[in-house]
Amino acid sequence: MKSLWNDAEAAQYAGPLGLRVYTSRLLGRDKSLVLHGGGNTSVKLREQNLFGDEEEVLYVKGSGWDMETIEAAGFAPVQLAYVRRLASLPALSDPQMVNELATHTLRAGAPAPSVETILHAILPHKYVDHTHADAVLSVSNAPDGEARVRDLYGDKAVVIPYIMAGFDLAAHCAREFPRQANKGTAGMVLLSHGVFSFAEDARESYELMIELVSMAEKYLAAKKAWSIGVPEAPAARFKREDAAQLRRDVSHAAGLPLLCRCNDAPRFLGFARHPDVARISQGGPATPDHVIRTKPVPMLGRDVGAFSKAYRAYFERNAATAKAPKTMLDPAPRMALDPELGFAAFARTAKDTRIVEDLYEHTIDVILRAEALGGWRALEDRHTFDIEYWDLEQAKLRKGGSPPPFTGQVAVITGAASGIGKACVEAFLARGAAVVGLDRNPAAESLFKRPDYLGVVCDLTDAAAVDAAADAATRRFGGTDMLVLNAGVFPSSAPIQSLTREAWRSAMAVNVEANLLVMQAFQPLLRLAPRSGRVVVIGSKNVPAPGPGAAAYSASKAALNQLARVAALEWAKDGIRVNTIHPNAVYDTALWTEELLASRAKAYNMTVEQYRKNNLLRIEVSSKDVAELAAEMCGPLFDKTTAAQVPVDGGTEKLV
Ligand SMILES: [Zn+2]
Repeated sequence: MKSLWNDAEAAQYAGPLGLRVYTSRLLGRDKSLVLHGGGNTSVKLREQNLFGDEEEVLYVKGSGWDMETIEAAGFAPVQLAYVRRLASLPALSDPQMVNELATHTLRAGAPAPSVETILHAILPHKYVDHTHADAVLSVSNAPDGEARVRDLYGDKAVVIPYIMAGFDLAAHCAREFPRQANKGTAGMVLLSHGVFSFAEDARESYELMIELVSMAEKYLAAKKAWSIGVPEAPAARFKREDAAQLRRDVSHAAGLPLLCRCNDAPRFLGFARHPDVARISQGGPATPDHVIRTKPVPMLGRDVGAFSKAYRAYFERNAATAKAPKTMLDPAPRMALDPELGFAAFARTAKDTRIVEDLYEHTIDVILRAEALGGWRALEDRHTFDIEYWDLEQAKLRKGGSPPPFTGQVAVITGAASGIGKACVEAFLARGAAVVGLDRNPAAESLFKRPDYLGVVCDLTDAAAVDAAADAATRRFGGTDMLVLNAGVFPSSAPIQSLTREAWRSAMAVNVEANLLVMQAFQPLLRLAPRSGRVVVIGSKNVPAPGPGAAAYSASKAALNQLARVAALEWAKDGIRVNTIHPNAVYDTALWTEELLASRAKAYNMTVEQYRKNNLLRIEVSSKDVAELAAEMCGPLFDKTTAAQVPVDGGTEKLV
């Protein structure tokens, strides 16, 4: 492992707290050191208060901040002398500890100080760095882990047995550190948890962390336990209905819709097919705090009922001996290892499925390396249980109020790159859905850079491309709950006498046949949606009120309308609702330019303003108006409605 320290970069961070920010970010950049909110750092500074009194202040990472992106505001300043003194108490409950830390924080609005704050306080050094380095975990979780760690570091590191983070661990370290530490001490290993480094200087403390981790890496390499391959096997053909069925089963066990991210990359697939997978995957997490997101172990295969039963047994076994009464979390898995699908991660949001996948990717490394040292030894499950059911961790999960209505659900939107389609992407994202945007315009791919959006460039008239898009949606998010059929073409006006067969065929190919292909590809996924599938078809006012010169468009949209009505009839038995929106005069789309608007207005003897609002209510209809209705039609308001056709047009006189 290399130090990422760079003088020019460091110069951009002013002062001792600035350098604390910088080296915390350096640690955060390396995923084999810390992952997604894991690890923490601190610095002890002397500061003057308003009366000019000098006071020692511990700036410690606040909970909810990620090391890779932390800023000065992400550190909570606490009164060092007081917090350090807490470690001498005979006992301190978690709620008391949280209270003491909160009431001895010196900045209103600072984040809650890390649960490892007291531990940072008792270490005498100015800078303290803490990670959950993969390499150190592999050594400590191998047979005779403690002896190996002592052998590896000698005097260089104090070694502490596993104790859950919080007051007990800090109090133990406060007693044990002075006993073990000497001049050469550069760090402290917490068995089955992680490693600390410390120094008077930010760079030195950071580089000691790199050195300690490098020593573990070299130890593993010397024992031929560093680069461990997995048995290679060709990937199975991805069966999206299997993945969607799995997501449905897991969501039902969880009592909520969850997203599912599937990955059959060689590393995951190889591990899922490892001859010893049943033993090595069922020990527990690499470091206990993963359990909050991952549950203690992955499900093997797809038997959610068996997993839930085993989870209940784990809960009952451990809750019986817990200090306080516990309420069981849902018994659904958050990870699965399957010989065909590879690895599957389950979570409420796309970001969280990604985090679960990252955590397990590193867990695989840690396990395989410890195996190469003689056998992976996970922490006993009572320790994992203590973290999973720790009030402080539960509180983290509970915060944030009720989630948006489509959380855990997937919307697929065609013609997503512009106009009504793009507005639909925004409307569904705003309601918490993960969205797959299909469009033949490559702009669809980069429309939104966020984990809950997947853009797929796709010609919807090509059955193979539609099939591939359905696969991509399922791999990323686990299936499809909602489908918005929006893509369409509007051929230039022509009276029937001069309508070309090309224009006719093109309108039919895109407005009718492409939608048929999309419906055929996605129906099996919609059928498996955890809370029933929903389809919204973007029709047109031309269906009930065709216009002269628009034969190809009007006929194709009318055909689509009938297709949607038949789908409502055929799919109702699977709970799939199919409703249609008939917009009219939506001018903020790619089809309409200022010039075109002006010429059409002139043709009707109107100003552009009059033309835009040429409806009963004299209001303008925007893409957003259509998109908002499309999203609402997928929500609870329309739960009991199918085969409806709703206009969004400000009212059309000839249809009243
Ligand atoms: Zn830790």
